[in-house]
Amino acid sequence: MTSTDLQHDDTWDACPTGEIDGLVTNLRQRRQQQKLQKISAVGGVLVVLLVFGFWMSGSLPHESSYGGIACSEVKERARQYISESLNEDLMEKIAVHLKACPRCDEAIAQMRASAKASSSESVSFETSTASLDANLTRRLMAANW
Ligand SMILES: [Zn+2]
Repeated sequence: MTSTDLQHDDTWDACPTGEIDGLVTNLRQRRQQQKLQKISAVGGVLVVLLVFGFWMSGSLPHESSYGGIACSEVKERARQYISESLNEDLMEKIAVHLKACPRCDEAIAQMRASAKASSSESVSFETSTASLDANLTRRLMAANW
């Protein structure tokens, strides 16, 4: 090594230190941005997959989940809900759902109305339940609920 080389090294070292720092910070920021972009890309894919999964699992587009319970579950338990034969937890969940979901609220209201109507004219509980069943099936099929 000659002294010129050393000097050259010195100036080379001294001058770009700040620049290198800047470059490193730049690179780090760029890498972070790329990381963030990757994360948001993965997140986007996950959201799409989730939505697609829900859709594929038989949930119709209008299917909503309120109060931690889906419309299809409310539909399944509607009769028990009206006769209050569900456990407290489910009664509460459905009540919350009905407040948020006009579709189910309407359907339950109709069921209540037809339950009242058939119970006032009914002879026995069994008959009223049976006619309620028939009525409901017809109504629900008509409403496509
Ligand atoms: Zn609903």
